[in-house]
Amino acid sequence: MPAAARVTRGVRRRLDLHRHRGDAVACPVCGGRFDAFKDDWNRPRALCWGCGAHERHRLQWLLFERRPELLAGARDLLHFAPEWCLRRRLDAVGGLRYVTGDLEPELPGDLRLDVTALELPDAAFDGIICSHVLEHVPQDTQAMRELRRVLRPDGWLLALVPIDATRTATYEDASIVTPEARLAAFWQHDHVRLYAPDFADRLRAAGFTVEVLRPTDLADDDEIARFGLSDADWLHLCRPASPVG
Ligand SMILES: [Zn+2]
Repeated sequence: MPAAARVTRGVRRRLDLHRHRGDAVACPVCGGRFDAFKDDWNRPRALCWGCGAHERHRLQWLLFERRPELLAGARDLLHFAPEWCLRRRLDAVGGLRYVTGDLEPELPGDLRLDVTALELPDAAFDGIICSHVLEHVPQDTQAMRELRRVLRPDGWLLALVPIDATRTATYEDASIVTPEARLAAFWQHDHVRLYAPDFADRLRAAGFTVEVLRPTDLADDDEIARFGLSDADWLHLCRPASPVG
């Protein structure tokens, strides 16, 4: 981005922050408090004015607040396709080796990682965050087995995908390949399937026990409104079910 555009964007952001100061909503990720969250292109009141967090990022950070043992007990954490707002917080956690990776890395420190063939040793991580990745991966079962392999026996995987709660079974059709057809069938031009709540069964089949956490499991009604959480976001907190092999 050209320098002038960057400055303009920075000024606009500060003006927006000032204009929307308030106490009606609060972002768990950055601690910002506002009159309302910012509209996204496809839904109202979705984004934090301060850090850009979406509903699902605020829910993930709330989980770490409500279950402090997850981060307190972790020495090595792997985060796929990390969003800026969460990356900034996790990078600052003391005593944690925070490893980030993506199929197409964004920043110099990110590892180039194919989630279906991780060039990482067995049992290397206490925690893994894999949010909105698997719906892009044709071999998602292979990816889940790889995540299981690099996780320590007492570690955890936090997995999120878009879920169509009205379906009973995940919808896949390998003949749907064009961006237009994928958008119509799977909600986004580069998604390769549309998961149903049976996403948890796939994780179990790959060797995890799964705890499904929805906003109501972590927050009361007032908090759900204040933190701007969405019932569409389901956290899958997974742990290795049995020793590998
Ligand atoms: Zn924020």
